Amino acid sequence: MAAESVAAFRAQYRREHVPAGYRGWRHLLFTFGIGGAAVAGAILQLEQVRPLEWLAIPLTFIYTNFAEYWGHRGPMHHLKRGLRPVYERHTRQHHRFFTDQRMELDGLGDLRAVLFPPVLMIFFFTAFALPLGLALAWAASPNVAWLYIATSLGYFLNYEFLHMAYHLPASHPVARWPLIGRLKRLHQAHHDPSLMARCNFNITYPIFDAVFGTLHRPRR
Ligand SMILES: [Zn+2]
Ligand SMILES: [Zn+2]
Repeated sequence: MAAESVAAFRAQYRREHVPAGYRGWRHLLFTFGIGGAAVAGAILQLEQVRPLEWLAIPLTFIYTNFAEYWGHRGPMHHLKRGLRPVYERHTRQHHRFFTDQRMELDGLGDLRAVLFPPVLMIFFFTAFALPLGLALAWAASPNVAWLYIATSLGYFLNYEFLHMAYHLPASHPVARWPLIGRLKRLHQAHHDPSLMARCNFNITYPIFDAVFGTLHRPRR
């Protein structure tokens, strides 16, 4: 997409999709404040965790990495019944707001095009995290359920942080961390309109891109 059409889309997005009272810092505070408090709350529920129960952490990490891959390769890039808002926000908006040629946001107000809206955060938590947490409490133990909740929410916050970091200006101190630079190159290749439906569906760590053969490492 040419630079002019990205600029035109950004102007249109800010007019049509960013409410007048939107403040990026409040969105950040909601995501990391409420999300961080929920992780801390789940950790505080743990009682005398047995060695085997700690396995819930790596298992949840792998499961969530798979969910990130599947969600992004599936409904975020292909219209699925009942999940239209997810497709609209990602393919029709996020990928037109940011391309591989124009990855940086222009200000905190543009976080609206990066972070999950609070309403979708609550939807994902109640539709996916909560039922599995309740099932684990019943089938395994309350400790396993709380470890699952804490790890999956922590993973989500890590996802939001990394994705935001990829879209920060290159001069920002966080954007200069070596790990961020390496992971950003993968996400930037995914923002190439000709590649977005084919590769680099993991937004954090490319484990399932490697497993399913969709990892694309661009040449520097
Ligand atoms: Zn992105
Ligand atoms: Zn995408």
